[in-house]
Amino acid sequence: MSTRIQLTGITKTFGSGSAKATAVDHITTAIEPGELFFLLGPSGCGKTTLLRMIAGFIEPTSGTIAFDNKDVTNTPPNKRNTGMVFQSYALWPHMTVEQNVAFGLNVRKTPAAARDRAVREALEAVQMGEYAKRKPNQLSGGQQQRVALARALVIRPDVLLLDEPLSNLDAKLRTDLRSEIRKICKSAGLTTVYVTHDQKEALSMADRIAIMKGGQIQQIGTPQDLYRNPQSQFVASFLGETNFVEAKVLEPDGVNRLTLETAAGKVLASIAGDTAAYSKGQRVMCSIRPESIKLVEAAATGTLPGKRLESVYLGEIAQHQVRLGEQTMGQVLAVSELNPTAEHLSTSTTQVGMRIDPCDIVILPMGS
Ligand code: ATP
Repeated sequence: MSTRIQLTGITKTFGSGSAKATAVDHITTAIEPGELFFLLGPSGCGKTTLLRMIAGFIEPTSGTIAFDNKDVTNTPPNKRNTGMVFQSYALWPHMTVEQNVAFGLNVRKTPAAARDRAVREALEAVQMGEYAKRKPNQLSGGQQQRVALARALVIRPDVLLLDEPLSNLDAKLRTDLRSEIRKICKSAGLTTVYVTHDQKEALSMADRIAIMKGGQIQQIGTPQDLYRNPQSQFVASFLGETNFVEAKVLEPDGVNRLTLETAAGKVLASIAGDTAAYSKGQRVMCSIRPESIKLVEAAATGTLPGKRLESVYLGEIAQHQVRLGEQTMGQVLAVSELNPTAEHLSTSTTQVGMRIDPCDIVILPMGS
């Protein structure tokens, strides 16, 4: 049975007086049983502090933490039955792989036969069975991190906590281990909290992501939900690349579309709620992802005019810089084109039309 984590009003302040800093600011949220939950945000936003409070290494200034309705706020870390994996693998250098993994079971005085079976199973789960007799310095970084994971899994934790576990590894290994870690957590049905500042890691692995800023959660959602429906400029720009284009609301177009006026002309935008939430003349910010702008011939109907200034060819994709509108000082948009056409790669600048599907324009409050 997996564990549900309930955080209620969790706050952590460090220091006092003029040096007082709030690292985590009144966070209330639940992490569901068996969920792979990511804390994502820029450096210093409070991710690690929050994770360490769930682990019990840091005591909250106020608020409560419950595992399955049991208040663990004041329970020491070794009594919470959590497994933890750090960025630095923190393996004992003088112990073999199997001794490292067995460590937590020895502390718990698990009988030898049960211990050896559990160690074998944990090493097999991370595909390290054949390295059981090696010392950590005879392993690659990725292998050492697998051992650290096996060491966390072997105690059959109620909650698995991972703090940037892949950031010391090279790019290829990180991608490989992403899907492996997800598979292991899912097959064990573990409630997992995973801290990272790598958005690709979060998008590719998470069930849900909490985007943090200044000690607070800005938005929680599935990867697709956060990417497609950010509720603030911060979330839209933190997760992936986007263009922000200012616009004015002109009028509703049917029940769930608005006509907007940008500096370069009119566009239609789909909205999730009621058009009555917007008033005529209201200024809004549109978030438009580079991949949702399609370059077509200049002056095609239903397009915004632009001038392609330069393009970078990357094989499967081209990244274009396109000046919006007819003005020489107009805003420059990033446009990415999958399977780029030769006409968009010429070195001379060209007039283009930009076609954007109304459902790819996300309307956000100004200054959010
Ligand atoms: P990073 O991605 O850089 O690790 P983070 O999001 O994990 O950042 P935290 O390590 O949780 O951020 O830190 C949050 C804030 O709390 C930061 O401003 C940090 O300087 C501050 N902080 C963390 N630990 C302490 C401490 N022991 N004493 C004082 N301030 C601290």
